[in-house]
Amino acid sequence: MTPHHGSPSIIPLTAEDRRHMQYVLALAIRAKDVGRHPFAAIVVDQHGRIMAEAGNNSMPPEGDPTQHAERLAAAEAGRRLLPEALARCTLYTNAEPCAMCAGAIYWCSIGRVVYAMAEQRLLQLTGNHPENPTLSLPCREVFARGQRPIEVLGPIAELEQEAAAPHIGFWS
Ligand SMILES: [Zn+2]
Repeated sequence: MTPHHGSPSIIPLTAEDRRHMQYVLALAIRAKDVGRHPFAAIVVDQHGRIMAEAGNNSMPPEGDPTQHAERLAAAEAGRRLLPEALARCTLYTNAEPCAMCAGAIYWCSIGRVVYAMAEQRLLQLTGNHPENPTLSLPCREVFARGQRPIEVLGPIAELEQEAAAPHIGFWS
């Protein structure tokens, strides 16, 4: 059964999922520590190898508003791997991919997405912040319009608080 948008997933994480999520949560804090927004993503292949990783880089002049972590990681994986391998990859991210990043994940042929914090929860934390006016468009709705299925696991109840922590107070 597909979980409802915004309600914590009841699907248990595998040990490998948990390990990769802990890594991505630490990467998001590292992004914050270097003055960027607290977002990060990695793409892991079917053998558990990290093929791409990225932190947020959405602030000019160093970055630009399209450099969300998920889009950067998906693009790097898309350059390195063939579509058959990408279809067996998982993108892990601390927060649900926005519509732009969901589009990038789709166009890069990545087969699975795992995220900790729902976009709705992030929206509660960012509000209409000029640097991150969070969309309200679940990634599942974007993927549902595509020509191939993308498996989605998230939000993850046991990780949502940890994922939200670096955002609390950041946007106010
Ligand atoms: Zn995004």
